Amino acid sequence: MTEKKKIAIIGGGIAGLTFAHCLTTEDYEIDVFEKKEHFGEIGAAISVFPNALCVMDKLGLLEEILNNSGQFKTVYLKTNNGTILSKSEPKSDYPVICIHRADLHAILLNNLEAKLHSNYNLKDLSHLENGQISLSFENEENKVFDAVIGADGVHSVVRKHIINDGEPIFRGYNIWRGVVKTNFDIGYASETFGKGKRVGIVPIKEGVYGWWATCNEAYMQDDSPEDTKVKLNRLFGDWHHPISELINKTDIILKNSLIDRTPCKGWTKGNITLLGDAAHPTTPNLGQGGCMAIEGAYILAKSIQKYGLTEKAFERYEELQYPRSENIVNESLRLGKMGQLENPILTTLRNLAFKLMPSNVAMKLIDKYFSYRVTNIEL
Ligand SMILES: Cc1cc2nc3c(=O)[nH]c(=O)nc-3n(C[C@H](O)[C@H](O)[C@H](O)COP(=O)(O)OP(=O)(O)OC[C@H]3O[C@@H](n4cnc5c(N)ncnc54)[C@H](O)[C@@H]3O)c2cc1C
Repeated sequence: MTEKKKIAIIGGGIAGLTFAHCLTTEDYEIDVFEKKEHFGEIGAAISVFPNALCVMDKLGLLEEILNNSGQFKTVYLKTNNGTILSKSEPKSDYPVICIHRADLHAILLNNLEAKLHSNYNLKDLSHLENGQISLSFENEENKVFDAVIGADGVHSVVRKHIINDGEPIFRGYNIWRGVVKTNFDIGYASETFGKGKRVGIVPIKEGVYGWWATCNEAYMQDDSPEDTKVKLNRLFGDWHHPISELINKTDIILKNSLIDRTPCKGWTKGNITLLGDAAHPTTPNLGQGGCMAIEGAYILAKSIQKYGLTEKAFERYEELQYPRSENIVNESLRLGKMGQLENPILTTLRNLAFKLMPSNVAMKLIDKYFSYRVTNIEL
């Protein structure tokens, strides 16, 4: 009997865990290395669009995901005083949903056959003369694999080894996020536009909503000396219902600076490749970073199944995934710039454009991202 080839996945995020589901352990020995003390996620909500749900369907995880999520049946764009700029009702073969990140992670971790190793922070990697890859971790352990998948996020150590394009780029605004139980039903998802500020509301489950709020600020700007809630009330307190109620009822508020990288090719070096945010980090304005990570995991696994652990497999994966990811990263960046406009004339023009745009045209513009079915792609 020939020995199974060994694949290391660096990073137990959405990309790494989905890839581990997509590639069967009958053919490969798969180890997932995560730097955190525990696998899992905390905090906020994540939208999962039909282009990613089709993969979850193939993996047999769709029902569990739908049972633990909220659907976007109606989506409003509004101004800060609550004036409706547009209303849309997404329709597709799969719903548009939002789920708590912790729930999505728990579902992905469930029934995973790969071997999971937490507290393994990858420090460095190198090719050996025999073509294998040596990994060295902060905990002083070294391990050797036949292939390595760098699913280690936007600050990827594996990307540094392959592309070395420096730090990600800050795009000029920060985001706060929270998840909150409400005693009222909002019944819709929405995005509300102000000047240099936005707020989004998404349904997660019956009576549970996620919200996010952005503001043009310096990189990693601390909220002190104000308390975060005091600051958010100063920024959004007079915005339409139920924005301040949601903020005030939230126990844990997370804050991030929004970063991405200029898309570039060349994700692969020998038997090492990049996946998810490590390959194509994006701002979240299209809600597609995680969805693309799921799509990429599926293509990469299918390509390895077809071509084996060869450069051809990695090349084909990048050839299929790169153009789409380039489009999404650039479009999301553009939408972010438009959403964060501060100039009163430009914000009025933006709002007018939303108001005048027929909803079927608006849906068409975003549908090209959501209607893609990676599960129908021919390798
Ligand atoms: C504010 C915000 C909102 C978003 N909203 C959405 C949304 O609604 N829908 C959507 O699809 N996407 C959304 N995204 C994007 C989405 O979160 C990411 O695209 C997705 O998490 C990428 O998954 P990943 O597994 O590639 O990377 P990550 O989720 O970053 O996971 C990487 C994992 O690797 C681990 N790791 C890192 N370095 C090492 C190392 N050296 N050694 C070992 N382990 C390591 C990390 O601890 C982490 O667990 C949003 C992003 C942000 C910032």
